[in-house]
Amino acid sequence: METRNERDGSLGQESTKTLFQEIHRLCHVEGLYPLGWIERTECPCCGASRFQEAFKKLGIRHSRCAECDYVCVDPYPPPQVMEVLYSGDYYTRMREFYELPRLRDQGIGSAYSAPVELLDALIAKGTGGRESGAWLDVGGGLGAFASLVSRRAPGWNVSLNEMNVKSIEIARDLLKLDVLPEDSAVLRAEGREFDVVSSIAVLEHVVDPVAFVSDYAALLKPGGLLITVVPHFTRLNVHVSKASNSNVVPPFHLSLFGADNLERLLRRTELFSGFETMQGGGASFTLIDHAEHWMYWDSLLPDADHAEIRTVRTEEYPLPLNIVLNALSLAVPVTSEYFAATDGMAHLAICATRKNVTPFGK
Ligand SMILES: [Zn+2]
Repeated sequence: METRNERDGSLGQESTKTLFQEIHRLCHVEGLYPLGWIERTECPCCGASRFQEAFKKLGIRHSRCAECDYVCVDPYPPPQVMEVLYSGDYYTRMREFYELPRLRDQGIGSAYSAPVELLDALIAKGTGGRESGAWLDVGGGLGAFASLVSRRAPGWNVSLNEMNVKSIEIARDLLKLDVLPEDSAVLRAEGREFDVVSSIAVLEHVVDPVAFVSDYAALLKPGGLLITVVPHFTRLNVHVSKASNSNVVPPFHLSLFGADNLERLLRRTELFSGFETMQGGGASFTLIDHAEHWMYWDSLLPDADHAEIRTVRTEEYPLPLNIVLNALSLAVPVTSEYFAATDGMAHLAICATRKNVTPFGK
């Protein structure tokens, strides 16, 4: 593993210039897809084992649960591939050249992975007007969201739960955040408890979302709130837009959730007594994605001169596709509000209240 990382370090800047090249190299060339990748046997949301092939993107297969419409990368990467994915060029460059400049200067663009209006509504819901409390943000990277919580709720004790060494360093130095680098089992063994545990754009990345939710819910005080934000993969995404939706980024996004199946997943743990769903952003579905066009585009990774992800055309559209896309794009501005209202918005949040402890210590 060390040899591979060293090799990536020296070749990385030269060899990987785009997101799709990075995914191809880490999954197909070095990750040996699908050799050693793990088949999903049970739906984490409803427990059924009725998976059907949904679509492929970048040669990576996605399955759909016929029972609840949960969509996932199937087979999913083994641990050694996961490790390389999250230490590769994409994450390293995103942290250094995209997130960090935004944290230093909000004028460049939003440092948050969901609209700030939605995050503010979630912070208000989480604090519930209380002056003080303990808040843990899980997998929060450099700490943009944890830092927002600290500013909005100054009396609260906010901690960032993050394991990436470089991210921890930045969160501590730049944002002066309290960072807990231990995993949930260690935090629980230490007897730590929180009023709110949040994860913003994390659940879609984890291999076992049920275990993730259960482990972190165990850190909540009775009646505490688990706040989960994910990209929203709506009914029209599942059945119409499929691979063209920009949230389909295998294998970084392993799970694609809708509002119903995300709530089912949380219900299955039997740890919660109530749920509230919120949404934010523009429409998740766009008419352009009715046509399959993703293979004509790629994304340049940010670098020292570009603190943004630049989408680039890699190939001209064939004429018939070009005509259809031009026609659909005319309809996008006048239909997006309609799709946001009827099908759903781009960001999905769910607040789940931890059950009160049962009497007699059960
Ligand atoms: Zn299911």
